[in-house]
Amino acid sequence: METKKMALSCEQLYEIWSSEPELLVVLDSREKELFNKGHIPGATHITTNEVKNTLLKIGEKLAVIICNDNDKEKLLTELSPFNNFMFLHECKRWDILQLPIVEKSIDDINKNLINKGHKMNSNSIFFQLFEPESSTYTYIIGDSKTKEAAIIDPVMETLDRDIKFIKELDLKLLYVLDTHVHADHITAAGEMRKQTGAKTAVSLHSKVECVDLLLEDGQELKLGDKTIKAITTPGHTNSCMSFYFEGKVFTGDTLLIRGSGRTDFQQGSSENLYHSVHNKLYLLPDETVVYPAHDYRGFTSSTIALEKKFNPRLGVGKSIDDFTKIMNELKLPYPKKIDVSLPANLKCGFMKESRVLHPQNVDGIPEVTNEDVYKNKTQIRLIDVRRPDEFNGEYGHIEGAELVTLGEELTNWLSKNDKNQEIAFICRSGGRSGNATLESLKLGFTKTVNMTGGMIMWNEKKLPTIR
Ligand code: FE
Repeated sequence: METKKMALSCEQLYEIWSSEPELLVVLDSREKELFNKGHIPGATHITTNEVKNTLLKIGEKLAVIICNDNDKEKLLTELSPFNNFMFLHECKRWDILQLPIVEKSIDDINKNLINKGHKMNSNSIFFQLFEPESSTYTYIIGDSKTKEAAIIDPVMETLDRDIKFIKELDLKLLYVLDTHVHADHITAAGEMRKQTGAKTAVSLHSKVECVDLLLEDGQELKLGDKTIKAITTPGHTNSCMSFYFEGKVFTGDTLLIRGSGRTDFQQGSSENLYHSVHNKLYLLPDETVVYPAHDYRGFTSSTIALEKKFNPRLGVGKSIDDFTKIMNELKLPYPKKIDVSLPANLKCGFMKESRVLHPQNVDGIPEVTNEDVYKNKTQIRLIDVRRPDEFNGEYGHIEGAELVTLGEELTNWLSKNDKNQEIAFICRSGGRSGNATLESLKLGFTKTVNMTGGMIMWNEKKLPTIR
């Protein structure tokens, strides 16, 4: 790529940096004191001697170099064989982003918060709820005029409490948002949707198939005349999302109070988390109130300004290398509930596999159509309960069906088989298979159904039969 002669303006470069920061490497070779006073979020501090080696290592990326004027000539000569870099000249837009918060005294920060922090619309609803076993915060936000609301990160253990609370407040729950696919607790999203009709939403990158909305960066959801803005903040997991609403940001496990989420599993990446915090969350107004998904020390909220100044991992002045080193040295234990939570959360919190078939209850017996069985026959077990002569007789049988005749043979079979498997019982016209279904349900089977109309109807519909 012929980048050296490319006439990228400061604005264009800024656009790339703010939308696709992974394409750029920002190298700041000014004195360390200047760097610490303020630098572009995500920039790495290096000495002028290290620039050349860094350019050799960055592959396809483009380096943006910030240096003192008197170093520029020397660097230009030294870097003449390279074409993967640009100097950043005066650029007012980036100057604003130089995060001078480290230099600000706590009095300045407080003054700023007092002056601006309570400009939030007083018509907004906000509640912070806590689940003690996983130390998870659940949030309810909304618009008090229309009573439209959303819940963020609901936990299965506190589902009933939260539903009751929403009813007491007479809220119309429109959205159930998960900041990411949690490893430490099971989401109540699916159950909440079932009980309230709210839409479930999670990041597009989560690969959760059962949700209603897969959110993209910048996507907006309305609650009355107020807006929830989704901000993708990968790093803790690749599908982490933060939500901005009325002067508050719900940061999930990306930015915690004086900490950050771990980055050692679920496609975690220290580099991505650092970029998410410095290039996205830290660009929010300093007085934005930070509400994380967890706290283990009793904090309930923070602000962007306070995290910039005091976060020991991600405070301004900490480089990406500092952060990566800290994260690599954490050596955290494997989360207790991950083996249960992840598979369940990928199914919106439903513990059991959802059914393949679509039964309707007819006189206490779950019944399915021939078509439903035909479409899904390879994913379920087909148990034909007729006699052997019928199985191979006039109406034939369905491919893959197993012959287990109703009576002693079936009772025996049921006593030995897994009660959670999905089974469709089949007979000639649906009578004997109905009895088989009832018998299985009495014995504790949870997903057994009767195929309506049996093999007679199957043949009438000219579905494929083996004779
Ligand atoms: Fe998490």
